[in-house]
Amino acid sequence: MPSLLRCSVTMSETLVSVLAIDGPVGAGKSTIAGQLVDRLGITRLDTGALYRAVTLAVFREGVDPADAEICAKIVQQSQVEFDQDGTVRLNGEDVTREIRGADVTCLVSQISAHREVRQVLVHLQRRIASSGEWVVEGRDIGTVVFPDALLKVYLTADIAERARRRAEQDSVTEQSLVESEIRRRDISDSTRIVSPLRQAEDAVVFESTFLSIDEVTDRITRLWKERCEQKDGGEG
Ligand code: C5P
Repeated sequence: MPSLLRCSVTMSETLVSVLAIDGPVGAGKSTIAGQLVDRLGITRLDTGALYRAVTLAVFREGVDPADAEICAKIVQQSQVEFDQDGTVRLNGEDVTREIRGADVTCLVSQISAHREVRQVLVHLQRRIASSGEWVVEGRDIGTVVFPDALLKVYLTADIAERARRRAEQDSVTEQSLVESEIRRRDISDSTRIVSPLRQAEDAVVFESTFLSIDEVTDRITRLWKERCEQKDGGEG
């Protein structure tokens, strides 16, 4: 399916190795993915940012968010670019901050639940990460987008701890409000019919309520290096 969406990352290698990180809101995916980029020198794809950017496009058009076909059409006509420094552009405009705002956060799970929207974006994600080494974070990366990922990680944590981290990150004082928003998105993302949030059978699970983010990153780094060695050994 043709799409105008594109990514400005340049790739030269011919093989792809994916480190998939899935998990609910506030489990630490983004922080850990950022640390893995620094430690391993791999490229990052934040698929949540992708869903957020197209949600902003739908929101701006003012169409009925329940109309899957219209939403998918807008998604196909949108151009999303994102750089390794975290900058996200929608049709050339820097929307890095706007996609984290309340309008998008309220709407994103509804738009993400449309099969037609996901078809476009799953295709795009596979095209972007078609060669090289990638850490890809999202909800369905190990289960749907990259079922052959070299390493699949499922991150989770107690909801109160996730709300605490998210409130701290966004400098919000009302942790209970953050918690109810997280609960709402957890339910929506894990109960939708198409590609619900769930743990892949072969994922390594990290329950990070009592682990520091650094500890989790350390363990994932070790696992990734082991898998790469096994892969290289197997190929050689
Ligand atoms: O990761 P983040 O919280 O920014 O993701 C925003 C929303 O995008 C999620 O709540 C979910 O509805 C959707 N999403 C998705 N599949 C992905 C990544 C994000 O449905 N792979």
